Amino acid sequence: MQHIMEFCNNFDFEIEKIVNTIRSRDIRKLYIQLPEGFQRCIRFIIDRIKQLLDRDVEIVVSANPSYGSCLIDEYGAKSINADLIVHFGHTPYPHYTHDIEVLFIPVEYTGVDKSRLLKVVKDLCSEKQGRLCIAASPQHISIARFICNTIEKCECEYKGVAMGCYPVAHENCDTFIIISGGKFHCIAQALSGYSRNIANTPSKILCLDPYTYSLWDPVKDVEKIIKIRMWKIYQAIDAKRWLIVDGFYGQHRKALLTQLIKLLKSNNKEYYILKALKLDRETLINLEADKNFDVIVIASCPYLAFDFKDFSKPILTVGEALAILHGNLNRYVYPW
Ligand code: SF4
Repeated sequence: MQHIMEFCNNFDFEIEKIVNTIRSRDIRKLYIQLPEGFQRCIRFIIDRIKQLLDRDVEIVVSANPSYGSCLIDEYGAKSINADLIVHFGHTPYPHYTHDIEVLFIPVEYTGVDKSRLLKVVKDLCSEKQGRLCIAASPQHISIARFICNTIEKCECEYKGVAMGCYPVAHENCDTFIIISGGKFHCIAQALSGYSRNIANTPSKILCLDPYTYSLWDPVKDVEKIIKIRMWKIYQAIDAKRWLIVDGFYGQHRKALLTQLIKLLKSNNKEYYILKALKLDRETLINLEADKNFDVIVIASCPYLAFDFKDFSKPILTVGEALAILHGNLNRYVYPW
């Protein structure tokens, strides 16, 4: 229990803001969504809300996927008649509007040593000339702003929140730092940068991990991913039977799906559509997807295609599928 408390205490769940919202909107039933990494803080959050609130409120926690703000659990919230969803860990997803009111709490990391992280960026500024841009995953928005506002050695602009499939525009940046823990957000941004670099945008992308204070270059990871993706595309070129995986909420992309189906028809391909809130290996095994289909296209979260790189049949993003169906294989296109 102690280690859970220590972990949760290092993040800002903005309990006061939640309590004020409950009071001002007269919320009686609250529905909470947490990404996997923060689910252990469920008691920490609920106990604190109840301690601060001077009246009763019913709080229900969603165990459905919460990988991004593309997945607001509207169905769960409606099924319990919730007045409000509190969605932790992400900022709003730009391509998706939901029917239910949602309070987004980015859950900022408060355990960072600000001066140590600032020094890493200062040292970089001494080495490199030019304009610096910084973006961050939701947990590190404030530290990214702080660094940009404090640093004097180089011109710096805070560019916003980096999302897996919604990269931050980095025009007019000579060096672009993504502050995030783990590899996902930075590699996703670098991958989009790779497509753009081909189109002559000269930004150098670097990743800064605020938990380890290490600055690293994602180029090798990106090159490895691109090689694998090109191989998957090559394997799928002559595929006849296509399985399309459509998602829910913000992972249901109607226009992309329509475009994909139109192209599959005009290319005389057989296609089947699967609707899935969450796609895992068990689903693929139950479907005997390796025998039933020649290729699987993920129209929900593009990074699922990357996760299943070891599957015996190619699993593609929509961008990759469209490249095949358009016969446009000269360069790798960003996941969409
Ligand atoms: S679709 Fe995937 S990468 Fe995009 S926001 Fe949702 S979970 Fe993240």
